[in-house]
Amino acid sequence: MIHSGHPVSPHGPNAETPRKAPTPVQDLAAAIRKDLARLRERGPVIGCFPLYPPEELLHSLGLAPLVLWGLSPLVSGYAEADRHLQAFTCSVGRRLVQFVLSEGRDLLSGLLFYNACDTLRNLPEILDQGLSGRGGKLPRFRLHLPLGSGGPAHHGGYLKQEILRLCGELSDAFARPFDQEKFDLSTDLYARARDLGRELEQEAAAGRMGFAEFCETLSRAVFLAVEGRILFFEETLARVSGRQKRTGPRVMISGILPPPPAACRAMDAAGLVPASNDIAVFHRSYASTPAVRGDLAGYYLEFYSNHEPCPTLLPTADRRVERLLDRARAAGVQGLIFCGEKFCEYEYFEWPHLERRAREEGFSTLFLEFSAEGDETTGAATTRVQAFAELLESGG
Ligand code: SF4
Repeated sequence: MIHSGHPVSPHGPNAETPRKAPTPVQDLAAAIRKDLARLRERGPVIGCFPLYPPEELLHSLGLAPLVLWGLSPLVSGYAEADRHLQAFTCSVGRRLVQFVLSEGRDLLSGLLFYNACDTLRNLPEILDQGLSGRGGKLPRFRLHLPLGSGGPAHHGGYLKQEILRLCGELSDAFARPFDQEKFDLSTDLYARARDLGRELEQEAAAGRMGFAEFCETLSRAVFLAVEGRILFFEETLARVSGRQKRTGPRVMISGILPPPPAACRAMDAAGLVPASNDIAVFHRSYASTPAVRGDLAGYYLEFYSNHEPCPTLLPTADRRVERLLDRARAAGVQGLIFCGEKFCEYEYFEWPHLERRAREEGFSTLFLEFSAEGDETTGAATTRVQAFAELLESGG
């Protein structure tokens, strides 16, 4: 937790922390870089994008998956990214390129990616190009997800072949044979981490964690190995579970990324209770784990076919809006706050339909937009959050 601007170490109270930090942002960046150094000690780090790579497979092979999302604490400018990307690229793409070109050669042993949106489609080649002048390209591993809406009966065979091919390529490249028993143990660890993510969400829904604290905790966990993530979540749960419940207008917050910290704090200050979230890097990532064991390809067929709906997983998109509204009803929320990622056409195409359906169901809605400039653009959002909270308090 970095509630007061000083990060609590996910490695326990006695872990080394910087004695003096010029700013909270630099403090956080230094702490995350230590997390990344520890991650590297576990095995070759594989930078993954977009959000739902086969982490369990990498982990079982003794590799250290790092999902290249939520990189804002590590990126303070876009000079490298802007040499390769258009200015109208989302912050996720710009930060990813900036980070990999600046730090990728030192940290990463490879890149793993699957097909999602147009922004990400050519990033592997762009990264190749950028890295070729900085010590050389990184080995690349590609998973092609079928995007048709025919379901497992239609594309299941193809997807299973893709998983087995990827497994073979990773095994050969790193000389680490696949072991089904190790894979099952890895899936158990990821299932545990996802369970704990949902428990933290429940603590936030009960008002025992503010939204800023919740986002800080979940965002920091991205940089930890799954074993460290489990410990960090367990310690956080132990710390917050005795707190008083807090009441206030209940909201669901949606978006690809959490809002910038200043906007999260504005939601807490306005008295809003984050009763549920539909943030891609949070709930959509920890919503569930397949029960399949003993079958690598079957596990990932289930993983991608029945994943929590996300516009970046096109086959799941048809069931997304109604699923989100069901969850909002179950959590007893009054309002839905959508945090738009500027230039993300996937979420923006969906929002008008989602907003109309949410209002038909009696939810109030608020649309906020955030960009690569992050905290610098949250002033207007703060005012709108305060007004929205007043509206909900008055029963509007
Ligand atoms: S935020 Fe949207 S446009 Fe950007 S990488 Fe994610 S899905 Fe693609």
